[in-house]
Amino acid sequence: MSELTYISTRGAAPATGFEDVLLTGLARDGGLYVPETWPRFSADDLARLRDLDYPALAHRVMAPFIGGAIASDDLRALIGDAYATFDAADVLPLKDLGNGDYLLELFHGPTLAFKDVAMQVLGRFFDHVLERRGKRITIVGATSGDTGSAAIEACRDKDAIDIFMLHPKGRVSPVQEAQMTTVAAANVHNIALEGTFDDCQDRVKDLFNDQPFRDAHNLSAVNSINWARVMAQIVYYFWAALKLGAPDRPVDFSVPTGNFGNVFAGYAAKQMGLPISRLVVGSNANDILARFFRSGVMEMAAVVPTLSPSMDIQISSNFERLLFDLVGRDGAECARILGDFRKTGRFDVTADQLARARDVFAGARFDDDETRVIIKQTLDRTGELVDPHTAVGIGAAAARKSRDGRPMVVLATAHPAKFPDAVADAAGVHPALPARMADLLDRPKRCQTLANDLDQLKKHIEETLA
Ligand SMILES: *Cc1c(COP(=O)(O)O)cnc(C)c1O
Repeated sequence: MSELTYISTRGAAPATGFEDVLLTGLARDGGLYVPETWPRFSADDLARLRDLDYPALAHRVMAPFIGGAIASDDLRALIGDAYATFDAADVLPLKDLGNGDYLLELFHGPTLAFKDVAMQVLGRFFDHVLERRGKRITIVGATSGDTGSAAIEACRDKDAIDIFMLHPKGRVSPVQEAQMTTVAAANVHNIALEGTFDDCQDRVKDLFNDQPFRDAHNLSAVNSINWARVMAQIVYYFWAALKLGAPDRPVDFSVPTGNFGNVFAGYAAKQMGLPISRLVVGSNANDILARFFRSGVMEMAAVVPTLSPSMDIQISSNFERLLFDLVGRDGAECARILGDFRKTGRFDVTADQLARARDVFAGARFDDDETRVIIKQTLDRTGELVDPHTAVGIGAAAARKSRDGRPMVVLATAHPAKFPDAVADAAGVHPALPARMADLLDRPKRCQTLANDLDQLKKHIEETLA
């Protein structure tokens, strides 16, 4: 098998291998890495994956992307350790809700949200590769809540890593804030930025675009633009589809998304040969993606806070990977469109490009009132207590379900106890934290508040590392 190479969506950075893609995150031209070609699984290949447990399946699906960068036995061990941190016997339980609807629970990891699925492997991949290289890195990330806690849990106490995590001050839930700021590890540095999630993400991009700063501190990313995160998320699309009859029967997925990372992994799985017919994008009131799939126009609006804060986003970073494909993998064209978007807050695609996107994707939007109703109805109808993000996915699934009986899998992205007030308010039932986290809100916190200012941010990082 020849090594897979990765190219940038903006076409001006050299092609590179998995190890560089893992450690650098963003390409040097500001683009995102994508595989130059998709590894393909034939129907026979897929049939042979059916009886594997989750770690074994993850090994098989990820290996072609990683090539020789991590030896096969090491890879198996790292994946095994990562998923041993999950407290469900089969790692990611698939629940039958009746009527061809399924819930794939991605939230049984250390921070109770789906980001652990990718981050627990990523932290171990980083550590493994850095140790071999004898290098140190500084991870810088922006989070609307769940990424941050998942990244911190994945990197805590790792010798070769410092991690700086920016979150929008006052805009993450108390549980999310506590999960990030109560980690007592010397290499974990929380920053509460006075701004929105998009401000946090922009400042992180500024740091990466500052070449001297980036080189001086070996900056690296674990936010959802890192290819390795998308790669790890591809696995659970295989997991659910195989349980529901793939390769013989196609499946649809509904994904509550903001950054387009999770649902892009589903698109990748489809490119690899998994029979996925439709990917439904669930949006909250920040519905830039749902509007795009209706109109072909991507148009920014102000971010409004909602019950599902991990989707309170108006710039969906990972959409760039789909855009790259829609423009025929023309990096210069992709860069031009995104440059315009940055200047004007708007771009559109051609009718043909929109039609191709809509062959696979459909969008649906739910505001907070609708989300509360879905939480209540889901409890009444199925006995499942779901968090507000998952509720958006359930609503989107119902709105876009096929009429020809294809199974619909909703990705359940957070444990309801991560958003207890919203869930209790909607359902009249208070979701309890698992026992291992019962005292979370009482633990001491460590966090630095900073203005939305690049120079102050750089100074803070430099002083902390010195
Ligand atoms: C991060 C997150 C999302 C959105 O994920 P994307 O990568 O933006 O698609 C949805 N739900 C929860 C609970 C999350 O933490």
